[in-house]
Amino acid sequence: MPRTLITGGAGFLGSHLCDRLIEEGHQVICLDNLITGQMDNVAHLIGHDAFRFIKLDVTEHLYIDGPLDYVLHFASPASPVDYQRLPIQTLKVGSLGTHKALGLAKAKGARFLLASTSEVYGDPLVHPQREEYWGNVNPVGPRGVYDEAKRFAEAMTMAYHRYHGLDTRIARIFNTYGPRMRPADGRVVSNFINQALRGEPLTVYGDGSQTRSFCHVSDLVEGLYRLLMSDEVNPVNLGNPKEFTVLDLAHMVLKMVGGPSTIEFRSLPLDDPRVRQPDIGLARVTLGWEPKVQITEGLALTIEYFRQQLMKSC
Ligand code: UDP
Repeated sequence: MPRTLITGGAGFLGSHLCDRLIEEGHQVICLDNLITGQMDNVAHLIGHDAFRFIKLDVTEHLYIDGPLDYVLHFASPASPVDYQRLPIQTLKVGSLGTHKALGLAKAKGARFLLASTSEVYGDPLVHPQREEYWGNVNPVGPRGVYDEAKRFAEAMTMAYHRYHGLDTRIARIFNTYGPRMRPADGRVVSNFINQALRGEPLTVYGDGSQTRSFCHVSDLVEGLYRLLMSDEVNPVNLGNPKEFTVLDLAHMVLKMVGGPSTIEFRSLPLDDPRVRQPDIGLARVTLGWEPKVQITEGLALTIEYFRQQLMKSC
């Protein structure tokens, strides 16, 4: 039975990965300091023979007894609202946390997978974004804390690969949505759906002409699993290449949820990327992967999830 450690395992993506790896027959050790992760995301796994939860900050000393086959580093605040609220923690988990997780993988002879991000491309001047593009990041802007932490994490991962011969993988994850996002994490999909469900105005930042490409979490987890099992050491984009404007998304959500909501325009945050769309040519060729869930199908599942969450909280 492979033994796998996931940092940030109680987060949105981390918890879905815990589920998938247990399904694949792994023993999973889930590490989380719960600053943005939530016990609710893994509550169904507590008591399962193949699952162990440790409340720990990965930037602290990391000791795990016994062997490990895989270390997946997913810990980090990940929504712009969260990482701007937690700037120092974000920088620390991307730098010190990545160093600790890499050190653990090296000590155990485990394969390491880094959850990197499309934010390494910043406000991109090349569209769509291919892995060869080096990006356009403002290091001292409000998003710099996340973007630079992840860029450092990629550099550190490649250094461990080159200098220590560590077996590493890097996933550049584009906008992903689905069940277990926090309703208040500030991301566009969770904001719009929750606003529509409450009958409040949908807050479109700027004129809504900026674009994003949204991947359903089930597709993303499939891509991550294939990457983990592949031989690809270079960074691989994982996301859905279907691109929408933010205003398109607002109209889709309004139509699907119904109700009295309107659209309210707010000012555009500083350094908000104008466009974003993954080129997934590399993932198609090396992983035989591409997303399957259409946006309307994925949104319907996510709307249902948030509807239930809202009912529980009433
Ligand atoms: N956005 C918006 N209204 C919201 C939240 C976000 O118009 O209530 C916009 C945001 O300005 C950005 C896009 O939606 O252009 C995606 O934002 P998100 O925070 O989901 O993630 P990002 O892709 O910026 O990291």
